[in-house]
Amino acid sequence: MRMWALVVINVLIWSNCVVARPTLDDDELRKQLISLLDDEIQQLPEPVNQKCNDFDESHCTEQCILGFESNSEGCTVSCRCKSFGLFDGDIMMTAEVAEMYFGNENRGASRNLKRWDNIPFRGKYKIPYSFDRMTATAGGGFRKSRIRKMLDLFEQRTCLKFVKRTNENDYIEFVDGIGCSSSVGRNGGRQPITMDKSCYLKDGFIIHEVMHALGFFHEHSRPDRDYYVKINLENVKPQNFKDFKKLNQFEINSMGSPYDFGSVMHYDSKHFTKNGKPTIVERRNNLPVKAQRERLSPEDINQINMMYPCQSYLPESDLSSY
Ligand code: ZN
Repeated sequence: MRMWALVVINVLIWSNCVVARPTLDDDELRKQLISLLDDEIQQLPEPVNQKCNDFDESHCTEQCILGFESNSEGCTVSCRCKSFGLFDGDIMMTAEVAEMYFGNENRGASRNLKRWDNIPFRGKYKIPYSFDRMTATAGGGFRKSRIRKMLDLFEQRTCLKFVKRTNENDYIEFVDGIGCSSSVGRNGGRQPITMDKSCYLKDGFIIHEVMHALGFFHEHSRPDRDYYVKINLENVKPQNFKDFKKLNQFEINSMGSPYDFGSVMHYDSKHFTKNGKPTIVERRNNLPVKAQRERLSPEDINQINMMYPCQSYLPESDLSSY
């Protein structure tokens, strides 16, 4: 019985490995998309090198999670706090996420974020999704196709099944917008994953945002990160100090998985650097962290399968060739 199970699993692994590798179709699609992006990017106006008027923040007394109110150029214009914005570079802040980051850490029962486990279906979990106005914009078909291919990768390795939304209350909507961003977990109702053109340049950019929506934070936010990486705050832009906050064990559960430099959720050493020097280095050798944005790592897959939990899906030891 045990032997048969192994044979079946191995067959599944092999077939998935074949499917997961890029096909000619993928490559062709990518070339077309990048050429389309190049055309669009060339039409963008040159960035304006505009300096902020010197608003003096030193007399502001409020502690603002997302910083002070700013104008479209990002210049601070008042001492009032922003009510909505991005955190950690690409995490859309909601009340639940804010509680995770900034709630009273002594209260161990910080509310757990909800997951997409509300529609179980034959041993899987259905996650409804839709597209905003992508089809109406240039390259919309390519973008939808890229996203769908990335969702396929999740489906090949986990028990998650992404289905086109019909009338479900909670759903992910992929929208055209500025930057690549997502909230964490299932927030309830329409939940946007915002993607601009740059988000399609690497598979991992799309995968990364979907991982946030599934309930994952950045790898460098793990409670045990200080054993593995060192944050060089002297190289970090002061306004981004908050983006290197470490979550505690009550807020995040790494489920016993080892710290993963290869995770698609790990930040690169140049993230938020103010001087070009590394902001995150490996503790063991002081070398800059090189993040990948190409694929789900075996541990990424393993953690999804534990988080949801996906029974009988592929263990990490069988994913070395993935
Ligand atoms: Zn992120």
